[in-house]
Amino acid sequence: MGYQNNVLRINLKEKKASTEPLRMDFARKYIGSKGLAIRYMYEELDPGIDALGEDNKLFLTTGPLTGTPVPCSGKLSVAAKSPATGTMNDCSIGGHAGIKIKFAGYDMIIFEGISEEPCYVVIEDDKVKFLDAADLWGRGSHEAEAVLAEQYGTDYSIMSIGPAGEKLSNMACINSDYYRQAGRGGIGAVMGSKKMKAILIKGTKGVKVADIEKTTDRILEILHDDVLQEDNTFVYDAGTTAFLEACGDGGIVPYKNFSGANDPEWEKYNGDVLMQYREGKRGCGSCGLGCGNFLKIGNAVCEGPEYETIAVAGPNAGITDPEHIVKFNEVCDNMGLDTISAGDTIVWAMEMTEKGLHDFGIRFGEADKMIEMVELMARQEGVGADLCKGVKYCSEKYGGTDFAMQVKGLEFPQYEPRGSWGMSLAYAVSDRGACHMRAYAPNVEVFAAAVPPYTSEGKGQMVYELGEFNAVKFSLCICDFWGTITYDIMAEMLTMITGEKWTAEEMGEVGRRVLNIGRAFNQREGFNRANDTIPKRLVREALGGEGPAAGQKIPQEAFEDMLDQYYEVMGWNKDGTMPEELIRSIL
Ligand code: SF4
Repeated sequence: MGYQNNVLRINLKEKKASTEPLRMDFARKYIGSKGLAIRYMYEELDPGIDALGEDNKLFLTTGPLTGTPVPCSGKLSVAAKSPATGTMNDCSIGGHAGIKIKFAGYDMIIFEGISEEPCYVVIEDDKVKFLDAADLWGRGSHEAEAVLAEQYGTDYSIMSIGPAGEKLSNMACINSDYYRQAGRGGIGAVMGSKKMKAILIKGTKGVKVADIEKTTDRILEILHDDVLQEDNTFVYDAGTTAFLEACGDGGIVPYKNFSGANDPEWEKYNGDVLMQYREGKRGCGSCGLGCGNFLKIGNAVCEGPEYETIAVAGPNAGITDPEHIVKFNEVCDNMGLDTISAGDTIVWAMEMTEKGLHDFGIRFGEADKMIEMVELMARQEGVGADLCKGVKYCSEKYGGTDFAMQVKGLEFPQYEPRGSWGMSLAYAVSDRGACHMRAYAPNVEVFAAAVPPYTSEGKGQMVYELGEFNAVKFSLCICDFWGTITYDIMAEMLTMITGEKWTAEEMGEVGRRVLNIGRAFNQREGFNRANDTIPKRLVREALGGEGPAAGQKIPQEAFEDMLDQYYEVMGWNKDGTMPEELIRSIL
């Protein structure tokens, strides 16, 4: 129950589709979504394959709760080997695609091979069609989706890429239902490498659960008693714009390419200002919280902007204009670029220009040029041809590696680690490079102030526990913003839906396994301690700007101490590798 026990495998080269049973032995160990996708990747992607070659595969993976009334369970995992990092990569995307996949009768869709010509794929229950995308190729993601929505109607969920994905940029994203993104690690480039412009999905089936009446009653109780409390519902009011103030209070909002923290002019573009321009609300399927906000300022429109986009297009770029922030969000989405990686790369280029190290033709505060740069990067024209490859590539070519804010080739989310030392460890050990969706240290070190932020003490265990929790939560397809969920609730819901007994303790075991299978994938690709690094800026430069973290830096020995602690908690070797028996035990 809960599962469809069915995988749709689509070969784009041969234009063939087939079905096969879901590997329930994997599902019992990894549940679904994130964990299941990584386990399949470990099984099916040979080490050393070209992430943009025909051997890489694109995995769209749901979980047993997807398509049920469980609150906040409508997200979808999109996974592949990353062209940006060479690691595994799984992204979570909102909207309705996950539920449509489930209603079409599948737990998972796996795309293989490369189409000879640009195509799009239409899936309606058991039918799969391969169609010519010549007229869509080159168009913005929003434009392509509008054309398809006009032709097919709104019963289909649409996932699409923009020009950045077609041109195989390391920072290309996949859009869904216009404004939701699988953003990170160049996942859109993998879809582009398959010459697949869009995927349309419609499903008319249901999902069987063990005891529908009992389940519905209990889910309503959980919705009212746990989900709909202030710690979660704040995202309904203002999305993640509220994080700007919370992060500012802790001194971790990056300023001018992480050279400082906390813009003194932040009130010009904070949540109160942005929400004055709200024109509508939206939520993913099965959501009980509805964090989506449609904003229109002048001729700029987006759903969001999320905190990450506000911070990178605002203070991190030395810009205070809210219309610019919304425009940056809109253009990145339409061009199919991840706002975090595109933004970080541009602000790095601003610093390079200002320091006289290389003239990229853009300086801090230049809002119009920042928007032009996004277009150049998406179309790989002028300086955009290099910048679209990200800060790791560019800094190795032009210099400025000390302030290239990335780990393993993935650019930093917008949390300054000198104000949350655990975040430096979280970025370093994240299985897909610098990511805030693995262990989210500011929750403990900054917002709750439960652990002192400027020390290495206890950070290995803390980052492990945070990572374990998110790993299982996302394997259940539960949205990040249901922040109060517990292992007890997860186990109870999984038991109700599947009819199989799950315990809170097993939730933790699954989370640990998911962390390990991601690491095992990367180890096979040659990753070890040498890759678990942080940029020198964090070690050598005292944090500038304002706020409680000003003046902080992370001594190298403190960072190495945190790494040692984390490896010990995980049972890994001192060099960051996993013992072979540990790998065998999780397969
Ligand atoms: S809280 Fe937001 S991201 Fe999460 S499921 Fe609801 S609408 Fe989607």
